[in-house]
Amino acid sequence: MGEKVTVCEVGPRDGLQMAHGIMPTPVKTRWIAAIAAAGVPEIEVGSFVSPRLIPQMADTAEIVRSAVLRPGVLIVALAPNLRGAQDAYAAGAHRISVPVSASFGHSRANLNRLPGEQVAEVARIVAWVRAQPRRMEVEGVVSTAFGCSIDGVVPEAAVLGVASGLAEAGVDMVGLADTVGYGHPAQIRRLVRAVRAEIGDRLDGLHLHDTMGLGIANALAGLDEGVRNFDAALAGLGGCPFAPGASGNIVTEDLVFMLESMGFDTGIDLDRLIAARTILHEGLPAETLHGHVPQAGVPKTFRAAA
Ligand code: ZN
Repeated sequence: MGEKVTVCEVGPRDGLQMAHGIMPTPVKTRWIAAIAAAGVPEIEVGSFVSPRLIPQMADTAEIVRSAVLRPGVLIVALAPNLRGAQDAYAAGAHRISVPVSASFGHSRANLNRLPGEQVAEVARIVAWVRAQPRRMEVEGVVSTAFGCSIDGVVPEAAVLGVASGLAEAGVDMVGLADTVGYGHPAQIRRLVRAVRAEIGDRLDGLHLHDTMGLGIANALAGLDEGVRNFDAALAGLGGCPFAPGASGNIVTEDLVFMLESMGFDTGIDLDRLIAARTILHEGLPAETLHGHVPQAGVPKTFRAAA
C-alpha cells in the first residue's frame, strides 16, 4: 500500500460557478454520486452564496442535504460568511471552506471586505460553529496566495499574515489557493515552507488552477514538500467570477493518474472517475471538457497504487 494522498473534488463548486449553463439539480445529484462511487473521499458540492451572484449555486442546500446521506464521503461546502456557515450547518455539511483573499483587490471584488475584516469574520464563524452540538470542520483558505489578476504580485508577508490570522481564529486547517493560476513550482515550494514555518501542520492542502499550464507541476512541487491534500476538478472546469483571467482547476483525472502512477494511494478508481465525465457532459453539454488522460485513454502501463 502506498502513502495516502487525499483528493478533494471541487468540480461541483469551483467547476460549475463559471459554467455557461446551469446544471439541473437531478443531474448534479447523479454526477456527485458518480464521483463518490469512484472512491473520491471528499467533494466540495456547492457554495452558500447569493444565487443572485452565482445562480449555479442556488440549489446548494438541497445538494448538501442529499450528498451527506451517502456514506464514506466527506461533504464540503464553501461559505463566505457567518450566514453561509449557518446555512451549511443546517444542511448537514461535514466541513465548510471559508475563503480569505491575501490580495486587497480580490478581497474587495469577491467579498467586499478587506482581508483583515474577513479574518475577523472567520473568527466569528469558528466561535459559532464550536458552540453547535454537531461537529463541523472549518477550513480557512488563503485565496490569491500566489498572485492576483487585479493586484498582480501578492507579497508573501500578506499570505503569512492571513494564514496565521486563520490559525489564531481557530480553524481546523488552512489551505493555500492559487485562485488565478499564476503560481510556479519554486514559488509553491517556498510558500509552503514559509507557511508551515508559521502555522505548522495546520497547513493542510493546495488548491491549484491550470491557467498557465503549470497546475500539475505545481501539484508535484507541493507533493515534494509533503502536501498530501489537493483540490482538483473533473475535466478541469473552474474559475472565479471575481478573478478575471482565471481558468480551470487542475484536472482530477490527470492528478489521480500522476499520484497513482507514483505509488500514492488515492482510493480512487481512475476508470470510474473518467466515466463520471459522461454525466457532466449530459448536465452541461456546451462546456469544453479538459484532461490529458481521459483524451488519451488510460495506458496499458498504468497500475493503481493500491
Ligand atoms: Zn478555485
